[in-house]
Amino acid sequence: MKYISTRGGMEPVGFQDAVMTGLARDGGLLLPDSIPDVSDRLEHWASLSYAELAFEVMAPFTDIPEEALRHLVNQSYSTFRHDEVTPLVTVGDVRILELFHGPTLAFKDLALQFLGNLFEYILEARNQRMTIVGATSGDTGSAAIYGVRGRERMSIFIMHPRGRVSPTQEKQMTSVLDDNVFNMAIEGTFDDCQSIVKALFNDLQFRDRYRLGAINSINWARVLAQIVYYFYAGLRVMRDTGAARVRFSVPTGNFGDIFAGYMAARMGLPVGKLILATNENDILSRFFNTGRYSKGTVSSTLSPSMDIQVASNFERYLYYHVGEDPGRLSQLMDDFSQHGALAVPLAADGGVNALFEAAAGDTAGTLETIRRFDADHGYLLDPHTAVGVHVGLQHTCADEPLICLATAHPAKFGGAIRKALGRDAAHHPILDELALLPTRCDDLPGLLETVRDYVSERAVHS
Ligand SMILES: *Cc1c(COP(=O)(O)O)cnc(C)c1O
Repeated sequence: MKYISTRGGMEPVGFQDAVMTGLARDGGLLLPDSIPDVSDRLEHWASLSYAELAFEVMAPFTDIPEEALRHLVNQSYSTFRHDEVTPLVTVGDVRILELFHGPTLAFKDLALQFLGNLFEYILEARNQRMTIVGATSGDTGSAAIYGVRGRERMSIFIMHPRGRVSPTQEKQMTSVLDDNVFNMAIEGTFDDCQSIVKALFNDLQFRDRYRLGAINSINWARVLAQIVYYFYAGLRVMRDTGAARVRFSVPTGNFGDIFAGYMAARMGLPVGKLILATNENDILSRFFNTGRYSKGTVSSTLSPSMDIQVASNFERYLYYHVGEDPGRLSQLMDDFSQHGALAVPLAADGGVNALFEAAAGDTAGTLETIRRFDADHGYLLDPHTAVGVHVGLQHTCADEPLICLATAHPAKFGGAIRKALGRDAAHHPILDELALLPTRCDDLPGLLETVRDYVSERAVHS
């Protein structure tokens, strides 16, 4: 299988090159040139363990020999604290898919544990080293650091806006003391950090010299790893209930997680609806209801990992939406960069795509959902998951069991839980222990030159 750019300006490349490239040089995102149809295998897949299933789902997309790929997935999911990796828990009328049993207690571990091992495998085979540079507003940074810590062929540099990530998130990153991990607390906002990352990647000489690699959700391997748990949960629930289809509710920010669900549906998983739940930052829910994708201003909410206005994976969906036409896609993306808006025609039923339902869950509804699940079921929802549950429960259907993706452990967002319940209910031993650990982090001004020098002095390159 080859990978192509959504903008059409790139020679197709193999899986390993797609992973190492991250963003296509023509500015587009990478996608497989075809989508395998797996509908004939679903009965068998329903009985597989998580790691066995991960191998089956990923194999057709990769160019990695069978034994090596099996080893990679086993390695990646052995770090999870639950035997089932992503267990399903029935709570009232919904099934919660707990995606937070990885090292940093957020769903991003599912992809970043795999990506760290995958990078290492490719670098070994090519006898190369790489430098990972990224910016984080919270969860991505720690999940990426845990995916890469202690590895010889990679150094990782993560910028966060000083004083603007939660104390827990900061501690999770800065308490990792491995020699190849560098935390930079930047004076400025997340956007300032992000523009420094972009500038470093656009400096092609620097990019090639240090072999810069991307760990953000535009990397295809992240999407690929996330497809697995849609099959895992969907097939189990259909087997146990006899239902012919399931629906998923997904708390959405950059459209990475739900895009993986879209791919699973296209591969043949019987999905009735993908319910896209945003918080007040609702560019995506507006799009699926009106056909217009237009930038607003970002507001801070209780679910900070969904506080985005431009969703980096949206272009992948749009490419399929316009019938895999790179010319049409490029035109729409040009509209968006020039005018901050693009629009697609609505279908006969008045929506954009019948597979999707979309709505924004507001702060009041989110807090109320956390309270209700605690009071009625003794189950704590993190604020991101609560947005998804709140919106999901507005879009139920008797024949289709509802699976709500739980994207973080509630203890990561203790402030929101306190706000909802009026007490400190959310704890996890891993996070409680963090308080005692020593940390390492350097304060830097938000200047491109300073960051570039900092990275050059510390990166191992070859
Ligand atoms: C990143 C994140 C999300 C949003 O996922 P996307 O793939 O960006 O849509 C939701 N919840 C949590 C806890 C996250 O860390």
